[in-house]
Amino acid sequence: MHHFSYRGGILHAEDVPLPQIAAAVGTPFYCYSSATLTRHYRVFEDALKGLGATICFAVKSNANLAVIRTLVNLGAGCDVVSGGELQLALKAGCPPEKIVFSGMGKTEAELRLALACDVGQINVESEAELETLSRLASGMGKTARIALRVNPDVDSGGHDKITTGRKEDKFGIEWTLAPALYRKARALPGIAPVAVAVHIGSQITQLAPFEAAFLRVRDLVVMLRADGIDIRHLDLGGGLGVPYDHTSNTTPPSPEAYGAMVKRAVGDLGCALTFEPGRLIVGNAGILVSEVITLKESTTRKFVIVDAAMNDLVRPAMYGARHDIIPVKEARAGDVAAVDVVGPVCETTDIFAKGYALPPLAPGDLVAFLTAGAYGAVMASTYNARPLIPEVMVQGDHFAVIRRRPTFAEMTALEQLPPWIE
Ligand SMILES: *Cc1c(COP(=O)(O)O)cnc(C)c1O
Repeated sequence: MHHFSYRGGILHAEDVPLPQIAAAVGTPFYCYSSATLTRHYRVFEDALKGLGATICFAVKSNANLAVIRTLVNLGAGCDVVSGGELQLALKAGCPPEKIVFSGMGKTEAELRLALACDVGQINVESEAELETLSRLASGMGKTARIALRVNPDVDSGGHDKITTGRKEDKFGIEWTLAPALYRKARALPGIAPVAVAVHIGSQITQLAPFEAAFLRVRDLVVMLRADGIDIRHLDLGGGLGVPYDHTSNTTPPSPEAYGAMVKRAVGDLGCALTFEPGRLIVGNAGILVSEVITLKESTTRKFVIVDAAMNDLVRPAMYGARHDIIPVKEARAGDVAAVDVVGPVCETTDIFAKGYALPPLAPGDLVAFLTAGAYGAVMASTYNARPLIPEVMVQGDHFAVIRRRPTFAEMTALEQLPPWIE
């Protein structure tokens, strides 16, 4: 469910017609609906009622301060994977005790920052990191509340490039090695092993891999408790998928079904739970709006060339991801042709959709790429010297620019010629 819909034949974000925003900020731009963000957060929260759950928004999916703040104001914590994200979460007003610091290669500087800020939990990904953290924490007179992120060796069934929970993936600590490492953690100065963490991947569209992973976590908790390590906290990660593409018939499990499965798997352990959803909260809450530059026909293909490109939304080029594309001006039913929707970047992979059914479009028409709120703006680059595009947030009948388009001077402000070039 999201709040982007046609009214009087024009696509609106909540109560705002998208052409109005396009006229104000220019295209392309990202547009987020705060009602949708709020709704997704509440639906997930409801699905986890009674489980003592804290929802830590995965900042890497959308790092705009206004998005983070909207969720923090609803009670969310933050899951961060770098020192930069940690600072963003704090800047957005997230209480440090609600911050989980994940990430599989944290530098000493990042660990020191996390300790200095007293984040709620640090998820440790290796024995070496555990030792480093112990040394830093005891040096600073701190005790780090940690989870070991275990790798449960399950295949999430998601896209190969975003699966993280198989033994051969680079993430986490092999679950069979975890008990020994927890014993070591207990003995190390500056370390309080309080939780077990798991995160098996992203855009997961079945419950079974989650359940398999959570049952492994459950076994581990029972073993650890028998060993005198009284785990009372589980971090079950993010990863629940969202529907992207109306032509595929995979429907991700509902938050309710996910919540019921969690209850089944670990509900009786007496553990407080943390979840780290990103995509589920923000995916459908954002769209990318773009203008048609021109049309081109070859003997075999019809191309629609739009002003958004792979540097603005890289998921199709990087993961073969598919986003629904719809015209901002509603089309008559049935009036469609198969076209390739492409961006202007000089790369063959700069293609959003191939053979995609769209109504007749003309230069100047607007189209919307749906479900672009997660892993969209955060992955953008300035490739081809294209400025980062604006982000806009809508609430009811008003909108605000939440990140403006940089000027050319701003884009190049950090560059300078070396002294030997005239
Ligand atoms: C990316 C990531 C998430 C969020 O994943 P989504 O699929 O967006 O829910 C959560 N936790 C960790 C550790 C991550 O790396």
